[in-house]
Amino acid sequence: MKTVDILVVGAGPAGLYCAREASRAGLDVLVVDLKSRIGLPVLCGEFFPSREFQGEPFLGEEVSTFATAIITYCQGEPFQNPIEGALLNRDVWEERVANQARQSGAAIWLNSKFAGLEHSTSASIIRGDRLHQVAFRWLVGADGATSRARRAAGLPPLKLAYAHQTTVKGSDHPGLLEFLLDGFCGQGYAWIFHKERSCHVGLVTDSPKRLKQFAGPFGAAFADDSDQKFTCRAIPICLLGQRVGTGNVLLIGDAAGQVDPLVYGGLAYACEAGLQVGRLLGQRPEDGLAAYTEWYERTLAPRLMESLRIREIIGLGGGWRRETVEEFWPPRVCRNPFAPLTPAVSL
Ligand SMILES: Cc1cc2nc3c(=O)[nH]c(=O)nc-3n(C[C@H](O)[C@H](O)[C@H](O)COP(=O)(O)OP(=O)(O)OC[C@H]3O[C@@H](n4cnc5c(N)ncnc54)[C@H](O)[C@@H]3O)c2cc1C
Repeated sequence: MKTVDILVVGAGPAGLYCAREASRAGLDVLVVDLKSRIGLPVLCGEFFPSREFQGEPFLGEEVSTFATAIITYCQGEPFQNPIEGALLNRDVWEERVANQARQSGAAIWLNSKFAGLEHSTSASIIRGDRLHQVAFRWLVGADGATSRARRAAGLPPLKLAYAHQTTVKGSDHPGLLEFLLDGFCGQGYAWIFHKERSCHVGLVTDSPKRLKQFAGPFGAAFADDSDQKFTCRAIPICLLGQRVGTGNVLLIGDAAGQVDPLVYGGLAYACEAGLQVGRLLGQRPEDGLAAYTEWYERTLAPRLMESLRIREIIGLGGGWRRETVEEFWPPRVCRNPFAPLTPAVSL
């Protein structure tokens, strides 16, 4: 049986930052992921709400283009604002973080599925056609919206939204983010994110049925995507008051529902939670979950709460309304919709 300090399930941004930090602190870390390549396939709009993360700038091939403007369409004339951030190439970025984790001693098993817990300190991992038992001190669930680690730990499943995205070749306006906030999206929206040489065209909504009925101004981009990358994926709807783990199981990123309740952006939260949990566990705390919960309630939860409050003010239940959207994203002084809010924002 293999024995590690931390078994991380999921090599997305949350899991990779966690593994990198914990292994830098000298812990023995194993990351497992179903995928055969880090960061691929790309199931994301790839917009990161800043040009850097925790002082590390996104560089070279990690960036497709920096974001310049956001155009919002909502009942009437579109309105445009400047915006900061980067449209990333997630595969290149995540491979860099994975390599940093490996250089610090973390092992990363790809084509490897976390199948469940044997008991509270050991897990079953199916790697290729072999079953491995892995003993651990901490299990970090970074395995996304439908997290198996979460289920294995006995925590309730997350409420989900559903996203559908295709990537089309060509881009007229690199750096432009377009958002369509309209009734047919229900409690969601459609987007076109213009990368350097391609565009992500997507829709997120509250029901899979609505995805199928999709027929809006952006519909044409979906109509002929036979030779395009096509994805449909669950996104957690953040509900507050949820636990971020139990016992020696800690959940981070989408697996913990750490996604902005208003725009469903989760990359920045996933990175932050991953980095923090890696560092906290690296300090070898008596009670890792208590330390993580204290940090989460003090930092991430208030920001999520504020975004949830704005969601309620905007009245998503009854659809987007231009007046409140403009108040929230006023032309010219636009708040970056993906950037975590500070509790100080008031409407
Ligand atoms: C279509 C779409 C567009 C989006 N666009 C944006 C955007 O532009 N900006 C933004 O900020 N957010 C966006 N998001 C949200 C963002 O993608 C997520 O919040 C982010 O990826 C969360 O990172 P994570 O590391 O928590 O999970 P993930 O990136 O989902 O990584 C989870 C990993 O766990 C692995 N895994 C799952 N189950 C198992 C298992 N049993 N065993 C082993 N491995 C497993 C998966 O293979 C995966 O690699 C988008 C989401 C979708 C669906």
